[in-house]
Parts: sequence; C-alpha cells; structure tokens
Amino acid sequence: MSRLNLVGLLPAELEDLAVELGASRYRGRQIATWIYRKGEARLEAMTDLPKDFRAALAARAEAAWPEVERQTPSLDGSRKLVFRLADGARVSAVLMPDGDRLTLCLSTQVGCGYACAFCLTGTMGLERNLTAGEIVGQLLAANARLEPGRRVSHLVFMGMGEPLANYPALVRALRILTDARLGLGYSPRRITVSTVGLVPGMERLAREGLGVNLAVSLHATTDEVRGRLMPVNRAFNLSAVMDAVRRYPLAPRQRIFIEYVLLDAVNDSVEDAHRLVRLLRGVRAKVNLIPWNPVPGNTWQAPPYVRVQAFLHACRRHGLNVSLRRSKGGSIEAACGQLRARKAQEEVKGKTNSR
Ligand code: SF4
Repeated sequence: MSRLNLVGLLPAELEDLAVELGASRYRGRQIATWIYRKGEARLEAMTDLPKDFRAALAARAEAAWPEVERQTPSLDGSRKLVFRLADGARVSAVLMPDGDRLTLCLSTQVGCGYACAFCLTGTMGLERNLTAGEIVGQLLAANARLEPGRRVSHLVFMGMGEPLANYPALVRALRILTDARLGLGYSPRRITVSTVGLVPGMERLAREGLGVNLAVSLHATTDEVRGRLMPVNRAFNLSAVMDAVRRYPLAPRQRIFIEYVLLDAVNDSVEDAHRLVRLLRGVRAKVNLIPWNPVPGNTWQAPPYVRVQAFLHACRRHGLNVSLRRSKGGSIEAACGQLRARKAQEEVKGKTNSR
C-alpha cells in the first residue's frame, strides 16, 4: 500500500489523521504548522511531536514534495525549476523576482489538453492532473531553495496545464495556500488563477468565494481568430466567456486580468484594439498585452514595435487599463511549460538519435 502524503491534506484532515492515530487534534495542528508554515518535510525533525506518535505517523504517512531536477536561470533574473514527480512525470514552475515581489508561476497538469496553437505544452496533450500535494509541493520546494527568511510573495497559476480543468485539486490547493491559521497563509489577492475561459469552472470558482484573482486568456477579439488560436473557443465562445467574466465577483479595487498575446498580423491591428475595448466595456479589467516571444519550431512572429505601440495607444485612448508585459523568463522559455515540452522533445530526439 502506498503511503499517504501529508502534503496536500487540509489542516482539518491532518487533525482527523492525528485522532485516527490515537492522538489529539492538537497533534494534527502541529503537523500542519511544521509542513505548511515551517516548510519541514522530515517527520523526524518534528521534535515537538511525541516519539511514539511520530513512529505511528511514519508507519502510515510521509511528507513529500516534488524533487527539483534542474533549475535554469534566465537573463531577466527569473529561475525555472523543473520538477520530477514521484511517477517520473515532469512539470515546471518559474520564480520571477520583481523588486520586493517574488512571484511563483505554478503548474496544475502534466501536459495540457487544450491545444492552443501558440503553445508548446498544448502539443503534448494531457498526461494527467497534478494532485493538490504536487501543486502545493512546487511552492514548498521553491521556498526551500530560497535564502533563509525569504519566501515567495505572489502565486500565479499560469504554468503547464489549465487550472480549472483540474478543479478539485486546484481548490484544495487554494484552501491550503490561503488558510491563515495553519496553512501557508497567502492572501487571496496575491494569488491569480488563469484560465483559457472554461465557463463552468469560472462560475464554480466564483461561487467558491475564495476571493482569488482571475486571469482570462482572451488572445483575440473575434470568434474566427480565437477559434484558430484556441480550439476551446468552439465550446465557450467570446460572448460566453465575457458573460462569465462579467459575473465573476470582485472586491472593491479588485480587477479581472485579461491576457492578450500579440501575434504579428494575427490579432494585433488597431481594429482588434477597438474590438477589445468594446468587449471589455463595463468590465473592471486590467489588460496584460504580451508581445509574442518567438520560440524555435513555432511559426508565429513577434509584432513590430510600432504595431505594439499603436495597439497599446488605441486601447489607452479609450480608457482601457492596459500594460505591456514582457513574458518573463522568455530566454528560458518559461511561459506555459514550454521548457518542459522542450525537455520532452530533447528526450524524444535523444531516443531517436540513439537508435
Ligand atoms: S496556453 Fe495554457 S491552456 Fe493553452 S495549451 Fe498551453 S498550457 Fe494549455
């Protein structure tokens, strides 16, 4: 029987486990504090637990997070961590420093089933969902590699996979991350969940009442172009996505993030900018424009500087809150699990070459 992983259990479940093992709920709270607040995975280091209880716990369970197989620094200061999971699958997370902020971009699936035309991960198909322990574990492993006293300050679910397609594990992870008493204690405002526009998931997340930020990848202003870039548009078209965006509950001063990758001569015209303005009329939105970063093996081109500026100004002239983003970690192909896909490609190539 495989041992239970304590990482990924809610604090209340750790309390239940302690009771099952014949101890008080208090022991469960101590375990939660060790794992989530102190970032300690070694049961033998949890010295305030009675020895007998630790032995009973070790016989039944372990605290394990994904092993960092490799880390790659980028010229812009970001760092990509490639994790090897217990079954040998790999995912990645990217640490992105920005002044006092240290943002971690997390993965939620191995591969992805949504096949966006510009995304290397999309070419892999979906291998499997990550567990909540593997999601939270990416953060615990990243925090453990930082200098003492430093920890990740913001979390974005924009790595490999579509977070809302792995809904139960995502929400379980969010509950652990935002539990201020015994979990990791992140403010929901410091957490952003990104989606390609899975309307039922957006509605469910809205009802969950967690208060996390939502980022929606729009990437086009007509169904025709969006359908070409994102096959998911056939299931949830622009109008359905925008309805769900309008219904997502926002606290005062909170905004929905709209992600828009600018691809040369595809979605970067001034007409597109005007359509974007119309789509977002009445929505408290912040648009992140991301000029495409060409990757080898991908046919899309980066838009010329003048077109990017024209798009930006057309949006701003009409009052849109819009900013230009460099895709962080671009030089290490950080966006959307691309490095993981590249590694898989290298491995396939290696296998082919060694035949
Ligand atoms: S962009 Fe995101 S949702 Fe689309 S294929 Fe890539 S990982 Fe999946």
